[in-house]
Amino acid sequence: MPTHSDAPRGETLPSGGAVHVLGAGPVGLLLAALLQSTDRFAVYLYEKRREYTRTRMVQLAPYLVADSIASYCTDYIDGESVEAIFEPSELAEGLAFRQSISPDLMRLLRQWTLGFCPLNVIERSLSELIDARQAHPVRRATGGLTAQDAMALPRPGDVVIDCTGSNSLLRDQLVPGAANTFKLRLEYALVVTFLYGRPYDCNEYCKYYKNIENAYYKFIPAVNRTYYDGSITHVTGIINIPAEDFERMPSRFDGQWLRVNFPDVAQSMDRFIAKIALETQGEIVGDLEIVRIPLDLFRARNATSRQLRQSGAADHPFAGAPVFLVGDAAMGSPYFQSISLGFECAMFLAGLLTQPDLPLAVMQDRYEQFIYKQWLRVYMRSKMIKHNKDVFECVGDTFTLLEKLHIY
Ligand SMILES: Cc1cc2nc3c(=O)[nH]c(=O)nc-3n(C[C@H](O)[C@H](O)[C@H](O)COP(=O)(O)OP(=O)(O)OC[C@H]3O[C@@H](n4cnc5c(N)ncnc54)[C@H](O)[C@@H]3O)c2cc1C
Repeated sequence: MPTHSDAPRGETLPSGGAVHVLGAGPVGLLLAALLQSTDRFAVYLYEKRREYTRTRMVQLAPYLVADSIASYCTDYIDGESVEAIFEPSELAEGLAFRQSISPDLMRLLRQWTLGFCPLNVIERSLSELIDARQAHPVRRATGGLTAQDAMALPRPGDVVIDCTGSNSLLRDQLVPGAANTFKLRLEYALVVTFLYGRPYDCNEYCKYYKNIENAYYKFIPAVNRTYYDGSITHVTGIINIPAEDFERMPSRFDGQWLRVNFPDVAQSMDRFIAKIALETQGEIVGDLEIVRIPLDLFRARNATSRQLRQSGAADHPFAGAPVFLVGDAAMGSPYFQSISLGFECAMFLAGLLTQPDLPLAVMQDRYEQFIYKQWLRVYMRSKMIKHNKDVFECVGDTFTLLEKLHIY
């Protein structure tokens, strides 16, 4: 893969072109805000939703606002992977870009890395920040786009950035005649969220002891998923369920529905919660919210339209207009802080797009390489957590446990 210095010179992005950002979820909004700060492009932002309604509590990783390599690599597992995968110069480049982020945006990012925050607060705050900056307005369009709509958008010199999330609009349009999505189904799960009226924190001992009587279904607070905000604890837990159970459940329901229809699954959850109550003398505030979701680890094999450009498919609109996938459109994992990952990729791409002399071919190569390295990081962490979960679920059953281990 050519690097910036040894690549041939080639076509660069003209100044004054447009960047079309498809999808104004957290990642599309951040990217629009980053690009808005430069006057190199006109920024267009397309979104099908009229309102931001997702209230689930999400967490942003502190590495997003790191100011040194040491503070970037503090995460217990991920830090080592980052040091193994990325060159120090690549990490330094990322840190340098953070220094250039405008103070109004950096203030928000810093705030969100301190604790949990509702997803729609992140979306609304970014959206308001974009609208408040009047010097370089972002032009917005509301309504769902089709892939054909997206193909009709770019004029010569424009860029298209797909931030439409895990069901990406363009992911499978970027390789001539082939699907572009790699997906591993890790498990089917119920994601149970509730508010609890006392401080409660959970570690591996707690997960084990509170599940001792749960022979089959285990309620496991998800990675770093309890958060005490000063008066209540936000708890998110997952229960692994078989595919047959998954098929028979609606996509969203409450605790009572689960108790009536899947009493064994409900019992494991209720036992766990009863033990929390015994230990901390508190109770649940409101009801349980339950969604059933497949937990998928996935990525775009190509995160840009590089292959279309190289194939010389002159009749394809994206052979001429560069396309980039960012956020869940590019990759995702249920066991990774995907918003932070999407923000990190958005920062990297904004850094590339704002280098006026960088040839387009080099830009796409560098983005592909960056995304591939991020994928290695996400894949390793996700597989390790899944393995640990599998092992945890059979602690006490020595032979089943041994079957899960491959040692040397
Ligand atoms: C239960 C649960 C808990 C989670 N907790 C966390 C967490 O704690 N931390 C974390 O980092 N991540 C978490 N995630 C993942 C996180 O929500 C996603 O990674 C994040 O929302 C991805 O952002 P995005 O902007 O890439 O995509 P999305 O948030 O999916 O945004 C895509 C946007 O594009 C719009 N769009 C889609 N198609 C079109 C179209 N055709 N035309 C126009 N607009 C379109 C959508 O309306 C949407 O606004 C969680 C996910 C779930 C399900």
